[in-house]
Amino acid sequence: MVELKNVEVHYGETGIDALNDVNIRINDGEFVFIVGDSGAGKSTMLKLLTNELSPTKGRVFVNGYNLSKLKKSKLPKFRRSIGMVFQDFRLIPDMTVFENVAFVLRATDKSKKVIRQRVPYVLNLVKLADRAKSYPSQLSGGERQRVGIARAFATDPGLIIADEPTGNIDPRLSYEIVELLLDINKCGATVIMVTHEHDLVQYFGGRIINLKGGRVVFDDYIGGRGTGEEV
Ligand code: ADP
Repeated sequence: MVELKNVEVHYGETGIDALNDVNIRINDGEFVFIVGDSGAGKSTMLKLLTNELSPTKGRVFVNGYNLSKLKKSKLPKFRRSIGMVFQDFRLIPDMTVFENVAFVLRATDKSKKVIRQRVPYVLNLVKLADRAKSYPSQLSGGERQRVGIARAFATDPGLIIADEPTGNIDPRLSYEIVELLLDINKCGATVIMVTHEHDLVQYFGGRIINLKGGRVVFDDYIGGRGTGEEV
């Protein structure tokens, strides 16, 4: 569960109110698009959710943690409860696709046996089982992002945050990236996807949170025009 209660973020240096009076609750298992133009406060909101930033006012709860009371010693465990998908993929160039995914499992002390099972499972989910031995440079942008999604989901986190995941890939392939995130969502993860691509959001529909000037100006469900069943 993700909850922001009466949240304000004020950047002291510039005097900018990046978020104002934000109240949001996202239940476990939801898929939510966060949309808004540049400067609307999307990145600031994500930084609150990952605890990179503390609100000037209000409270933030993520995956059962009250972030204003999060002890430093609990920070690694908290961070592991979130899988991140980045606009620029952030894959390790000299590791194969398999190794890129295995890396996050090793970092959380998973056994070799678990790694041997889990990596093929998540690569299969993102339809890249046949590219396990490729290096990122041998993949298209869309394929790289599919590895990014596999890596984010490898440790089975409760929450996946995708920050403009389609920003660096061919627009035609953006749809399949969202479809994969929807598949991951069906596997049980809550998914929050930040995007400024209005077309994509209208195609899929679902719960949309629209930020404007640091305020939530829309938080509701819309019907998609694309997929019929999935919305
Ligand atoms: P978005 O991700 O929607 O583009 P941001 O959260 O990055 O929006 O920014 C919201 C507002 O806060 C903008 O006006 C931006 O200029 C300002 N801002 C963002 N980060 C900082 C910072 N570190 N210091 C000062 N102002 C910032």
